[in-house]
Amino acid sequence: MSISCSSIKTTDKNGDLSFINKEATQWRDIPKEKINYAAKEETIFLSGGLTLLQDKLVEAALNSMDINFIALPNPNFESFQKGKAYGNRGQCNPTYFTVGNLVKYLQNLRDETGLSSEEIVHKYVYITAGGCGPCRFGMYITEYKKALRDAGFDGFRLTSFEHDKGIFQGDDIDEKILNFTPTFFIALIKAIIIGDIINLLTYKMRPYEVEKGSVDQAVEVCKNIVSQAFSKHTSLIKSMWKCRSILEKVKLNRLQPKAKVMVMGEFWAAMTEGDGNYNLHKFLEAEGAECIPQPILNRLMLSLWEAEQALKNREQLEVENSKKVDFSNVKTRILIKAGKSAIKTHFSLYAKAIGLHDYEIPNIENLAELSKEYYTLECSGGEGHLEVAHLIESVKHNLSHLVISIKPFGCMPSSAVSDGIQSLVTSRFPQANFLSIETSGEGAANFYSRVQMALFKAKQLAKEEFEALEIPEHIPEKLNNYLYQPKSEKAGSAAQLIDSLI
Ligand code: SF4
Repeated sequence: MSISCSSIKTTDKNGDLSFINKEATQWRDIPKEKINYAAKEETIFLSGGLTLLQDKLVEAALNSMDINFIALPNPNFESFQKGKAYGNRGQCNPTYFTVGNLVKYLQNLRDETGLSSEEIVHKYVYITAGGCGPCRFGMYITEYKKALRDAGFDGFRLTSFEHDKGIFQGDDIDEKILNFTPTFFIALIKAIIIGDIINLLTYKMRPYEVEKGSVDQAVEVCKNIVSQAFSKHTSLIKSMWKCRSILEKVKLNRLQPKAKVMVMGEFWAAMTEGDGNYNLHKFLEAEGAECIPQPILNRLMLSLWEAEQALKNREQLEVENSKKVDFSNVKTRILIKAGKSAIKTHFSLYAKAIGLHDYEIPNIENLAELSKEYYTLECSGGEGHLEVAHLIESVKHNLSHLVISIKPFGCMPSSAVSDGIQSLVTSRFPQANFLSIETSGEGAANFYSRVQMALFKAKQLAKEEFEALEIPEHIPEKLNNYLYQPKSEKAGSAAQLIDSLI
């Protein structure tokens, strides 16, 4: 066995020989040497990991503010493998996919453009969301830094807005490289909301398209229209009206009884549209189902609700300890209120313009009421009480034929907490068709076969629901127009349409 010259021979308390490597030190997440970073104007910002459409709209929104921003390509299996290679052991899937995706992008940049690693570190910055946990979310920044160092990009800058603390520019960042101003957040939120609305419509329409690929083509046109509106600073509402006329031209056959599947679970696993969840949405559609996706808006509303709860608890403590009222609480309350009302107003304006009529922004308070008997509301992390609430809501209001809760392997809040509780929910609501499923990055065959089994029952339910209805002889044309979204107590879209005629 060869021993490096930095090791020295020593004896332990039993007198046995051992070797100590004196040079080994604890890892610190600050670069060993001071790095000369590019000035703000020359810096290129990177980010990604939302839905395909939202990443592109965010890029358009930030570029319109003269922020040199590039949305990374969708994380794929290669990203996951890079994440595993350079990351710590025992992380959850979203960490591997998103960290690996950044490493993959930077390595390609270096190999394809000839930029050196030092030049990349000098010029590029990654924007991410962060938080203090309580799950692994609190370690994301450190994970990025560790993987980037091991991949040859030591000192690469990261900046984040943290859902529970505010803004973190980075320990290694002297200058404020990005102004997280209200204008920045408003542009970001507009892009996310518009993306949510178009995604919701896409998932409603695509399973019923007459010509394969026609919905995706129309959505691509809409993406360009909205991006142009961001770039040219023209009205986003008008751009949504234009999208409406594009979508209306897509031919649909909506009288097909398809299983409706609510896809929920851990935020990233449920939202991503790629290898990160084995392309679950596409798989379900190919198997003849219609998906109800989880909009990013849900997560935003949950974060505001959590901030409001934390504020109430703080105020309660201050009263109990007879402290004077802290006026910074008043400011926080105003900000939360303003945030909520801005989201609601923008959502309803854009949704009306494009013609999404039957979707309401989730009322987190009501969802908390539904789940509080099962889930300790003070317990935050992951999606908090939302997973439990969504399942109960779906059963009580007959929203779907199947609820799939998807979670990354090793996710603490979703697999360990929510799933533990869902077994009580499903015993109390035996009619629930519920599948909880993990993604590990590997094992797709097993994943698909479990989904297929649950989907079989859902398809039967959809068929039975539809066949129990009396189909009128004359079917009005409006039924195949996506703008017709009647209210109904049926779960399936085809059954809802027929039910509206009876
Ligand atoms: S919620 Fe789960 S998957 Fe998401 S960051 Fe936390 S531990 Fe990881």
